[in-house]
Amino acid sequence: MSSPQTLHIRPPFRAEHIGSFFRPATLYQKRELFEKKECSREELRKYEDEAIKEIVQLQKKAGVKTITDGEMRRGLFFEGIFDKIQGMKALMRPVHEYKEYIPHVRVMYANGVKSGPSFFCDGKLKRTVGFYTEDFKYLKSLVEPEEVKHLKVTMGAPNWIHQRHGCDQTYDLSVYKNDEEYFTDLGIAYREEVAELYALGCRHIQIDNPTFCYFCDETMIAGMKKAGLDPEAQLDAYIHAMNLCTQGRPVDLTMGVHMCRGNYRGMHYAEGGYDRIAVKLFNDLDVDTFYLEYDTERAGDFAALKHLPPTKSAVLGLMTTKNANLETVEELKTRITQAVDAMCSGEIKRTREEALNQLCISTQCGFASAWQGNPITEEDQLKKLQRLVETAQQVWKE
Ligand SMILES: [Zn+2]
Repeated sequence: MSSPQTLHIRPPFRAEHIGSFFRPATLYQKRELFEKKECSREELRKYEDEAIKEIVQLQKKAGVKTITDGEMRRGLFFEGIFDKIQGMKALMRPVHEYKEYIPHVRVMYANGVKSGPSFFCDGKLKRTVGFYTEDFKYLKSLVEPEEVKHLKVTMGAPNWIHQRHGCDQTYDLSVYKNDEEYFTDLGIAYREEVAELYALGCRHIQIDNPTFCYFCDETMIAGMKKAGLDPEAQLDAYIHAMNLCTQGRPVDLTMGVHMCRGNYRGMHYAEGGYDRIAVKLFNDLDVDTFYLEYDTERAGDFAALKHLPPTKSAVLGLMTTKNANLETVEELKTRITQAVDAMCSGEIKRTREEALNQLCISTQCGFASAWQGNPITEEDQLKKLQRLVETAQQVWKE
């Protein structure tokens, strides 16, 4: 299944981040008005443009090489695909059309939510406009030509709507007979997007897919089984859906997957180490790098890293974005050493130097996966990025 690969480093760079940033107060206020339909999209865009200029400067000031637009134009991290692709209809869906075993859906049920905004595929899926290409062009206009290769685009995962609504309520069965047909067309759309971003100069794409970590959560596994589903078959289907998006990419394009257990205003939804999914994911998923949440015990220990193939890199999300606590350089270094220990403890033979070369460090998730942001300040996020850069310089001497 996997393409022949070589280890991709730079990007990812030694000190990374997951892409979303705290919205400045001016944008935050405008977004509040926009959500209440008291501000137009065009009016909001002016504030987004300014916020993106600011966040580019903040990333440069912090010394990170990777630059994103901070997801300033998005309300939620996965926006940009299902709201733009032809064949998807946006609508409020009653809660019974959401799968209760999905960790963040459990919260909807627990809170007595009656319905939520989502999508239904009622026609053949076709990419008729770029998902993130216009955003990329704007970001590109803000940096020097030699910095374009440092820009990172984050995008939602192909299985995001499917995990909520399942194979029975994601698409019209007269349009697609099964998941394979649905994900095949979605894969074509993603590959068109990837090709266009590449042509514009993009060399670093991160697909955000918290769903994979949901498969680390025993409560979800039990819930799926109770619903008559085979969790392993579902995980395989989502790996396949991702591979349809990344296959055939140019060798000098780094494509990775970010996985975490949820990140909404400082909250998480799932728990459990990577051991349940590591062998399958590290080997079968056709990506160059894994951006792995690792800030607390909810992600388990580093043991699963012993399965990481030598051709793939892992970005350890050691620094939390869920609160203002600032990890020390020594704490971060200790954890990197523990990760190297784990990588050298398995059947894959590698030196400590080779293991270290497969690693980078980052924040565990974004600072604002939703526009409201996590309970931290703009100063906190700058300090956290600077701390990652400082640590990376000491460890890798690059
Ligand atoms: Zn995340």
